[in-house]
Amino acid sequence: MKIEVLGGAREVGGSCIAVETESCKVGLDYGTKLDGDARKLPNDFDAVVISHAHLDHSGGLLSLSKQNPLIIGSEITRAVTVDLLHDMIKIQNEKGVFDFQDQHADSIGGCFHTGDSLSLGGQLKIQLQSAGHVAGAKITTLQTEGKRIVYTGDFCFHDTEILQGCRWEAIPKRPDVLISESTYGGKIRLPRNELIDQFLKQMRLTMDRRGNVLIPTFAFHRSQEMAKRIDSAIEAGILPRYNVYTISNLANRITGYFNNNKQLFTKEIKQQKHPFNYGHIKHLYQTSQIKEPAIVICTSGFGHAGASLRLLADWADDKANSVILTSGYLPPGSPLKSAKENRYFKTSDGDTISVKADVKQIELSGHADQLELIQLISKVKPERTLLVHGDIEQAEALSEKIQEMTDVCIPERNEIIDV
Ligand SMILES: [Zn+2]
Repeated sequence: MKIEVLGGAREVGGSCIAVETESCKVGLDYGTKLDGDARKLPNDFDAVVISHAHLDHSGGLLSLSKQNPLIIGSEITRAVTVDLLHDMIKIQNEKGVFDFQDQHADSIGGCFHTGDSLSLGGQLKIQLQSAGHVAGAKITTLQTEGKRIVYTGDFCFHDTEILQGCRWEAIPKRPDVLISESTYGGKIRLPRNELIDQFLKQMRLTMDRRGNVLIPTFAFHRSQEMAKRIDSAIEAGILPRYNVYTISNLANRITGYFNNNKQLFTKEIKQQKHPFNYGHIKHLYQTSQIKEPAIVICTSGFGHAGASLRLLADWADDKANSVILTSGYLPPGSPLKSAKENRYFKTSDGDTISVKADVKQIELSGHADQLELIQLISKVKPERTLLVHGDIEQAEALSEKIQEMTDVCIPERNEIIDV
C-alpha cells in the first residue's frame, strides 16, 4: 500500500492524501488552498472521503464533477459542501469566466454516500466517526490488506458550546499509520472558558462605550456557534441587550440545516426546540439595514470581501469600535491581517484606511492544541504517524514531543510512503 500527500504537506490548505492499494485508490479530502492558488489534483480516485465541509478539505470537488466519483462524507458535509460550491461558482462567475456552473455543484451532491461505513469492492473497509471540530466532521479509518490507516481530518477532543468533542475511546487503537492534522502542533491554548471570558469582556467593554463590534467569521459552524454564544449571554444577562445581527444568506441557510439536525450537537442543544432560532439576534440582508451601535457577525471569515470588508472600512477608524477575530489563521495580504498587524489596510478600490478600533484576536478554535495532539498519540498508539495540515514549525514542535511514542514523519508534498 502507498500513501502520497498531495496537499496539506507542511502547510494548512489544499488537503488531499492518496491511499493506493492493490485494488483501489482512495482520496482523503480534496481541498483548495486558502490563498486561492489553484493546484491540480489527480482525478483517478475510486472514491474520495471528505472529512468535513471546509473548503480547504472539499473546495476542489468541482473539478471531479465530470467523473461522477463516489464521495463519502456525512449528510451535513454533503449539504454544506454543495452550498459552498454554489457560492464559489457565484463569486468566480462575478469575477469573470469560470469553468463550472450550478449543475456541476448539484452533480457533486448526487455523488455522496452519507453513511458511516462502506466496503469498496469487498477489499477496503471505510469507517467514519465524529471528529468534533465542526458539525458532521469525521475521522476516517481505512482497513485493507491486513493494515489499518486512521486519518484525523481536523479534530478536537474538547467540547465546545454547541458540539461535543471527539471521543478518543472510539478511535481504533494501534493503527499501522495515523495521519494527523498538526495545525496547533506547537501551541498550548488557554482553556476554552477563559477564552470565552476574554471574548465577553471585550464585547462588554465596547458595548459600554456604545461602539460597534465586527465579528468576521465563517458561514459554516463558526457563525452559528458565535450567534448562539452571544444570544445565550444576552438571555442570561451576562451581556446587555444590544442590536445584534448576522449578515450572510449562506450562513442563514446553514443555520436552517443546524435546526433540522440538532441530534449532531450537545445534550443542551438537543433539548431545545429550535436551538438556532435566536431570541436576540436578527438576520439582515444588507449592511444598510444595520442600526448602530451594533454587533455584526458576518462572512467572509478572513475579511477578504463583501459585507465584512465594507464594515471594516466603515468602522475601523473609530476607537470606540472593536473587531474580534476568532480564527488563528489570517492569510498573508488579507485586509484583516494588515488591520491587525499594520494598523491600516487597503480597500478593494485601493483606498488606505487607518485603524483606530480595537482589533482583538481571541482564538476560539475547533482544532486540537498540542496537549490534545499528544493525548491522541498516547491513547491511540500508532505504529507510524504522518503529520499534515500544519506549518513546518508547528509540525516539528509536535514531532519532538511524540517521537518517543511513535515513528513520526512530516512528509513533503508528493512524497510516497510505503506501508
Ligand atoms: Zn476545518
